[in-house]
Amino acid sequence: SSSYSHTVSTLLKHHFPAVVAEGMAPPQRIHLPPVKIHMEWQRRRRPGAGLYNPGTTCFVNAVLQCLTYTPPLANYLLSREHSSSCRQQGFCMMCIMEAHVNNVLHTSASAIMPTAIINALPHYFKLGMPGDAYAFLHCTVTAMHRACTSGHSE
Ligand SMILES: [Zn+2]
Repeated sequence: SSSYSHTVSTLLKHHFPAVVAEGMAPPQRIHLPPVKIHMEWQRRRRPGAGLYNPGTTCFVNAVLQCLTYTPPLANYLLSREHSSSCRQQGFCMMCIMEAHVNNVLHTSASAIMPTAIINALPHYFKLGMPGDAYAFLHCTVTAMHRACTSGHSE
């Protein structure tokens, strides 16, 4: 109802004044409160492993490396907070990305094959023209968002 969303909006403005602009509808669900989002690396670390390209998936690797080195996302995935409370049945892009980022940043190998991601591709991404990094990024972020929002239907 509108009074409910007004209350939420007021609460959000009180706690996170920078997040909700005047006249802007509050998000329906807050996955992670802003105080828990860390924009800087939580730990100083060396660059992680490179990624092998088994065929025509260099655009996949480019997107994966961008996501891996996006500190607020990487900090969250490195904390393994998602998988410790994941209620997804079967395929979960967040669990797959969490495993990937932890693998890349913790392995001592100089390069790894992103096997789990490539195996997961048919689940949410039709491999078409090689080089369509934007389509892959869009599908990946959408699948991650879906993994965060499903199983939370109250
Ligand atoms: Zn999951």
